[in-house]
Amino acid sequence: MSMGAGDSIASGDATPVQAPSSAEAAGLPTGTCVNLLGLPRAELAAFCTALGSKPFRARQLMNWLYKRGCNRFEDMSDLAREFRALLTERAELRLPEIVSEQRASDGTRKWLLSADQAQAFEMVYIPESDRGTLCISSQVGCALDCAFCATAQQGFNRNLSTAEIVGQVWLANRELGFQPGGDRIITNVVLMGMGEPLANFRNVVPALRIFLDDLGFDLSRRRVTLSTSGLAPQIYRLAQEINVALAVSLHAPDDELRSQLVPINRLHPIAELLQACWHYIDEQNGRSVTFEYVMLDGVNDSPAQARAVARLLAGHPAKVNLIPFNPYPGTQFRRSSETAIGHFRDLLLRGGVMATVRRTRGEDIDAACGQLVGRVTDRTVVRLGSRVEAARTRAAGVNA
Ligand code: SAH
Repeated sequence: MSMGAGDSIASGDATPVQAPSSAEAAGLPTGTCVNLLGLPRAELAAFCTALGSKPFRARQLMNWLYKRGCNRFEDMSDLAREFRALLTERAELRLPEIVSEQRASDGTRKWLLSADQAQAFEMVYIPESDRGTLCISSQVGCALDCAFCATAQQGFNRNLSTAEIVGQVWLANRELGFQPGGDRIITNVVLMGMGEPLANFRNVVPALRIFLDDLGFDLSRRRVTLSTSGLAPQIYRLAQEINVALAVSLHAPDDELRSQLVPINRLHPIAELLQACWHYIDEQNGRSVTFEYVMLDGVNDSPAQARAVARLLAGHPAKVNLIPFNPYPGTQFRRSSETAIGHFRDLLLRGGVMATVRRTRGEDIDAACGQLVGRVTDRTVVRLGSRVEAARTRAAGVNA
């Protein structure tokens, strides 16, 4: 923390005069310690230059950090000793801390990570025969109030920083025993944990860049999926920024029902949302948008509703992923029967829309979709930033 002018006057301290280091000469404020975790390559290069070093050091740093899983400057043996000393002084590689871990009988693992002393968020690793998927969070809590989601019941506390988002993949790699040069353990990353990623646009986009960067986690753009409840204007912005797979929480075929289930629909109704989706696919030369559809017994699972979904999407680059509802304490909803889900899928297929049913994983540790709650303790504390942000998100669906 830097000391304000008032502090030094009050205490009467005489600040010792030192020759400026190269970092100071380059304009980096004294006493600041920059967290390099999550800095996109161009910014890391600029930081190295500001420290008086060469921009290509950024490549070496990224290689150590992401490819080799090393987070201690002193261990980065091909960096000059003086540069390492300068880094130790002016930079840090700060990760979220793991508070606890749970393992499900199907191999799914869930970690609780601390955001600060009071707040925590969750990430989940789901192993399958042909892939390993890490489901990460983008916010502590969520402001969007979807009726069937456990995270929504927690309220909203704050956005995660880019370092906290990137740090999830870094930590999971370590916990899963990833070895430098060895096979990937995490092949897919999905932003489907706690939070609405497009409501934290500013921090999520740089994290996506690190996921895709070949000096970062080097994931294929088809294997990084951002799931949104439908912030249509932010989908247009995303199309300008980066190319990742897009998943959209549809959950109902008409505005009346969708506005009840996913309240952001009142601001950005289905027609507007779909326009944004098709624009995204055109702009990014993408294959298709995945539309998530939670199966709620007697609410959105009738044959007529299946046909209506098919009419909305047929002929467009779309596929539907049906998610059996995952219950949590206090919910009024029930999961649709297997028969209803199968029938719904068949009607979509018959209506010309590709459809699959998501297999529920990690249920015995509450790690399935919509069950992540973390620890969102001070959502009621007056913190102007989060209050304003939550209100703005609710009112305008915009926050950047
Ligand atoms: N905020 C993002 C990510 C949410 S989690 C979004 O809204 O898309 C990923 C998916 O799980 C979303 O489609 C979400 O609507 C769905 N989901 C939420 N709660 C659920 C629950 N209890 N059971 C099944 N799916 C749920």
